[in-house]
Amino acid sequence: MATRTLRIGLIPGDGIGKEVIPAGRRLLESLPASLNLKFEFLDLYAGFETFERTGAALPEATVVALQSACDGALFGAVSSPSSAVRGYSSPIVALRKKLDLYANVRPVKSVRSPGAKQIDMVIVRENTEDLYVKEEKTYDTPQGKVAEAIKRISQRASSRIATMAGEIALRRQKIRKAGGTSIHASPLVTITHKSNVLSQTDGLFRTTAREALATARFVDGGVAVEEQIVDSMVYKLFRQPEAYDVIVAPNLYGDILSDGAAALVGSLGLVPSANVGEGFAIGEPCHGSAPDIMGQGIANPIATLRSAALMLEFLDEEEAAARIYAAVDANLEEGRLLSPDLGGTAKTEEVVEDILRRL
Ligand code: ATP
Ligand code: MG
Repeated sequence: MATRTLRIGLIPGDGIGKEVIPAGRRLLESLPASLNLKFEFLDLYAGFETFERTGAALPEATVVALQSACDGALFGAVSSPSSAVRGYSSPIVALRKKLDLYANVRPVKSVRSPGAKQIDMVIVRENTEDLYVKEEKTYDTPQGKVAEAIKRISQRASSRIATMAGEIALRRQKIRKAGGTSIHASPLVTITHKSNVLSQTDGLFRTTAREALATARFVDGGVAVEEQIVDSMVYKLFRQPEAYDVIVAPNLYGDILSDGAAALVGSLGLVPSANVGEGFAIGEPCHGSAPDIMGQGIANPIATLRSAALMLEFLDEEEAAARIYAAVDANLEEGRLLSPDLGGTAKTEEVVEDILRRL
């Protein structure tokens, strides 16, 4: 088999981003040769330090490099200045817009332990519209001020996010089969909405998602589809998290559900994400720059390692991804070399070494 070379942009950003992104690079470089994968890395810049140095939180050179010279990227974290700093805005939000990364994908998985509930789900959040179009206005009335916000839902965005959820459900089933362990017997997509109240906006999301998931590709692939009203979804998510495989939601519900689900598995240091568009994915740990622990070499690298695996999934390298997931799970299950956020005493380096050994 011919060797495939993937060009990966590395954007460490600020704080512990600079400690965990090098771990992601080492992981990719350490994948077994039998996978026939080679990597070329481009060091790219964004974040608050970059802003202070150059006046731009997201330099144009970074955007151009991602667009023209990269197959995928890993993004660390950027610190958000405590009070609004003039001219500074989040580079990851800007990147999502510029590269049309319309989906935020967040897998949430618990460590297998006897007797404990197992969680193995992924939340697929629409990332371009809904209330986040930020079209707000305030006006005066005789009774005082009134503020309004637009909630925009389109057929196009709803259809492509539901299709992505279906594709993810199929791929997860493939990876599960390859890895041999699974809490889900068959793929399931849960559509989340509030169409009982918002019959037009959420109604459109619901019917469009239903249609997208009713195509032969998903039906023949055995993808079951169900719906949950978002409030009862939250209840069930906490009572019975093991019931969920892939959850697809409009922007706001997805935002809330992803953070809620992350809380189910302990540390932020475990939870990966990916920002995904047509043919491009940026892996990004869910945590921030963690200024309270930066520079101590104790940041948990697992969120980043899992984000690298997730990025590989979207580059159709499922086998490499499955290897990484299995190595991380084995480290957590054994529980001998854990970072302090998980109650251990291991340094970032030691956790990475242990996982690389298991690849
Ligand atoms: P930011 O403004 O960049 O989001 P923050 O102060 O909100 O920074 P987070 O990175 O969001 O900090 O982290 C919240 C808490 O979780 C902090 O106490 C942090 O130390 C901890 N934490 C986050 N990521 C990790 C990690 N990878 N390993 C260990 N602890 C982490
Ligand atoms: Mg934070």
